[in-house]
Amino acid sequence: MPPVRVFLVLTAFACGGPAAAGRADVLQREAESQFQQYRTDLEDLAAWCTQQGLPAEARQTLDVLGPTDPYRLFIPDLPRTVGPAELPPDASQELAQWHRRLQQLRTRHGTAFYDLARRAVRRRPSLAYELALAAIRANPAHEAVRRIFGYQKYLGEWRTAYEVRQFRSGRVWDERFGWLPKGHLHRYEQGRRFHDGRWITADEDARQRADIRNGWDIETEHYRIRTNHSLEAGVQLGEKLERLYTIWQQLFIRFYASQADVVALFSGRAQRQRTPAPRHQVAYFRDRDDYNRSLRAAMPNIDVSIGVYIPNMRRAYFFAGDDYDDRTLYHEATHQLFQESRRAVPLPGEHRNFWIVEGIALFMESLHREGDYWALGGLDDPRLHAARVRLLRDDFYIPLAEFTRLGMEDIQTSPRIATLYSQAAGLTHFLVFYEGGIYRDALVQYLSAVYSGRDTPQTLADLLDAPYPEIDRQYRQFLAETFRHEQAAP
Ligand SMILES: [Zn+2]
Repeated sequence: MPPVRVFLVLTAFACGGPAAAGRADVLQREAESQFQQYRTDLEDLAAWCTQQGLPAEARQTLDVLGPTDPYRLFIPDLPRTVGPAELPPDASQELAQWHRRLQQLRTRHGTAFYDLARRAVRRRPSLAYELALAAIRANPAHEAVRRIFGYQKYLGEWRTAYEVRQFRSGRVWDERFGWLPKGHLHRYEQGRRFHDGRWITADEDARQRADIRNGWDIETEHYRIRTNHSLEAGVQLGEKLERLYTIWQQLFIRFYASQADVVALFSGRAQRQRTPAPRHQVAYFRDRDDYNRSLRAAMPNIDVSIGVYIPNMRRAYFFAGDDYDDRTLYHEATHQLFQESRRAVPLPGEHRNFWIVEGIALFMESLHREGDYWALGGLDDPRLHAARVRLLRDDFYIPLAEFTRLGMEDIQTSPRIATLYSQAAGLTHFLVFYEGGIYRDALVQYLSAVYSGRDTPQTLADLLDAPYPEIDRQYRQFLAETFRHEQAAP
């Protein structure tokens, strides 16, 4: 099983409200109360800071909680350095006391979150992940939790096994040039490039790689990117793809890993040795013309696309320039991850349930930066907004009993394709966020069924344990609530 290495915090359970509590199971209620206790302890410490005349520390203490939003998932960037930030040697007694109390509090709650995560892992894997992530946010130095996410200590830093292997083989990561032998870095910075066993100028290198067939190949942990734009642009694309990969891998772990694997991971037993999976292949053209020209034979209507994943080529295609956008990158790369991360039928959703294949890609498009966090979802996401307008204003809705019967062609050739996509996006947000995430595990099982071809039109209702008209009603209620929530927002 691949290591998982960035951290997703699904804070929805912390503020699900009374409606959520009604549906929530015992574990979810325990998680809520654990989170509440953590908040109370931090607030008490912040109040003490204020009394001591330490307003900056009071703020820092409250910041430890991070943002919460029942309609958004937050993914923090964790510190790479092992160990907490040091206080200056001349720190006052009060400051030293605050620092010690905060560390103790974070350590204690980190352990409490982790213990609860281990208890939740069999029955509620998505909740277990929320808790593991809460644990690591509380205490980024928690070794067992770091191991869950694929980290190990290496020269005073948290690194993935892949990174450690790269370093041990004498390579370094540079955000302009990617992985390269340490001894090459200086010459790269001076505008030299190593090409076919000899050193040439960067201009000459670019000239020789102008045709995508001879382009640069950039390898990251999970991707191989071929580009004729530039080495630097390929490396940047690789960083974005790796970020998506990490988040996808956490959210959908039960899509590609067995329950036994996930339980073993959480139990603190050594991670299974990973069998190296082939890298996902991506082509990144210098501009739209090159993209159109190269792909027209495979896809006659390529001109209307701004990126595409072609399953039988097992490759995603994008181009640089004004029409490029990250949402398209995340959308197509999500199709690729679901298709290639486990055994899958060639055309998932061909005869039924096609909406979820698009719905999940439309949802992952929402990945964006917010302050110190990466975030998914959100009431301001244009796809969710469109879904609300269609349902609440236009009263357009295809009941799930019918929607789940639509196959790929039904949707892709429909004159209402944009409206159907909006509904697919709205329903996916609903499955991720409804009542603190109670349907999130079922969503992952649904995707598994569709991608493995074991699905029927009834699969989703069975997994949610509710008849379709009831789910239709819940969806309408969810959208109406998001609307009210947005109106009430400052
Ligand atoms: Zn798509």
